[in-house]
Amino acid sequence: MSNRKLVVVTANCPQSHACPSVKICPVNALVQDGFNAPSGLQDKCIKCAKCVLYCPMKALVFE
Ligand code: SF4
Repeated sequence: MSNRKLVVVTANCPQSHACPSVKICPVNALVQDGFNAPSGLQDKCIKCAKCVLYCPMKALVFE
């Protein structure tokens, strides 16, 4: 998984609420502006996949 990067699948995100996965990230690598789809900060992300597993909409994936 180390060569993969976190990708936000905007089409899967309803963009209508505070992203629950933002609080799950242990290194604050997921940020959200308003209710927009969150963004992953690649330089911070340690690829733990917690946010990927937590998002019920499958809007966070590794590619
Ligand atoms: S994979 Fe882990 S470190 Fe990276 S954004 Fe998701 S929760 Fe944060």
